[in-house]
Amino acid sequence: MSQAISFRPDKKILTVLGARPQFIKASVVSHAIATTPGLTEVFVHTGQHFDANMSEVFFAELGMKKPDYFLDIHGGTHGAMTGRMLEAVEQVLLQEKPDIVLVYGDTNSTLAGALAAAKLHIPVAHVEAGLRSFNMAMPEEINRILTDRISQWLFTPTRAASANLQREGYPADKIIEVGDVMYDVALHYGSRVTPGTGLMAQLGLTEKNYVLATVHRQENTDHPERLTAIVEALIATAHTLPVVWPLHPRTRAVLQQTAQWSALAQHVKLIDPVGYLDMVQLEKFAALIATDSGGVQKEAFFYKVPCVTLRDETEWVELVDAGWNWLAPPTIAGAVQAAIANALGSRGQEVQPYGAGDAAEKIVSFIGKLDQSPFSENPR
Ligand code: UDP
Repeated sequence: MSQAISFRPDKKILTVLGARPQFIKASVVSHAIATTPGLTEVFVHTGQHFDANMSEVFFAELGMKKPDYFLDIHGGTHGAMTGRMLEAVEQVLLQEKPDIVLVYGDTNSTLAGALAAAKLHIPVAHVEAGLRSFNMAMPEEINRILTDRISQWLFTPTRAASANLQREGYPADKIIEVGDVMYDVALHYGSRVTPGTGLMAQLGLTEKNYVLATVHRQENTDHPERLTAIVEALIATAHTLPVVWPLHPRTRAVLQQTAQWSALAQHVKLIDPVGYLDMVQLEKFAALIATDSGGVQKEAFFYKVPCVTLRDETEWVELVDAGWNWLAPPTIAGAVQAAIANALGSRGQEVQPYGAGDAAEKIVSFIGKLDQSPFSENPR
C-alpha cells in the first residue's frame, strides 16, 4: 500500500543508539542536526554498551548531549536483548512521536530501533546502509539486512555498499550515497593527537614501533580455536615489536578463562578499552593494526597504517583492493603472524573511497529538505 509521508515544519528526529561505534558515528551527525534550524533530536541509548569506558567517555569527549532516555538493556541472548529493546523503544516512540527515526550500523540496537519505528509507520533512516559480509552466521549481517529492508532512506558510505543495495533490488531513489561518517570524525579528531605523549608515554610506546590489536567479534570470541590462533599470533609478534591490546569487556571475560591468559598478559600490553582520542593516538602512530573491528579497519586507512583483518571476510572490500588491508582468517596462528610480518612497512594506493568528509552534513541536509523532496512520496 502506498502512503505519502508528510512532515511538520519542524522535524523531530529520534536517534536510537547503544554501542560504542554508534556514539562515535552519531556525534558528527548530531552536531549537524543541532546547528540546522527546524531540526531537533531526541537520543535513546538502549544500554547495549554501558561501562563508562564503552559509553560515557564518548559522550563527554565528542561533545554530545546526554541521552534523553537510557533503557539500561544489555546482556542475555541476542533474541532476548533485541526483544526487550523493541518493547522499550516502542514505548519511547509512542511518547515522543518523532517524524523520523535515525539508526546506525548493524547492532541489536539498530534493528530494534528500526523495527519498533517501522511497525508504528515512522520512517527510518539508516546510516551505514548497504554493507554486506555475505556471511549470515554474523549477527551483524542479519541486523543490517533486516534494517535496510524496513528503512525508508538508505545512507550508504561507499560505492560498494550502494551497489549491494542495487543488486538486492532497492530503488535508486532510496539509496543516498553520502560517504562515511567515521571519516568525518577522523578528519576532525585525527589532527588533535601527537605521538609519544599521554597514553603512548604511559605504555612506553614509540611512533611506528608497535602493533595495535582489537578483537570483539562473536565469530572470534566464541570460537576457542580462532581466539587461540589470534592470541598465539600476537604473542609471537610481541617477540619483535610491542603489541598493545585494549580489551573489549566480552573478550577479556573469555580470555581470562583460557590457559593462555597468563602468557598473553606477560607478553602483550593488555589494557582496558580506551577513550576515542587515546584510540586515535594509538591508531595513528602504530606500525600496524590487527583487528576484527569494522571501524578500526577504516581508521587504520584514514591514518595510513597497514591493517591485518582477523576475519574471513570484510565489508570494507575497497581497502583490500587498494592494498591497505589484508584478510587473515584466524584459523592458524602461524598464518596470522606471517600476515602481520608481511604487512608491516607496506603502503597501499592513494584512494578516497569514503567521500569528502561531509557525510554528516549531507545526511542532515537531506533530512532537512525532506518536505520538498520527491522522496516524501515514497511508498512505505
Ligand atoms: N574504539 C575506542 N576505544 C577502544 C576500541 C575502539 O574508542 O578501546 C573506537 C574505534 O576507534 C572505532 C570504534 O571504537 O571508532 C570501533 O568500535 P568497535 O570496534 O567496538 O565496533 P565496530 O566498528 O566493529 O562495529
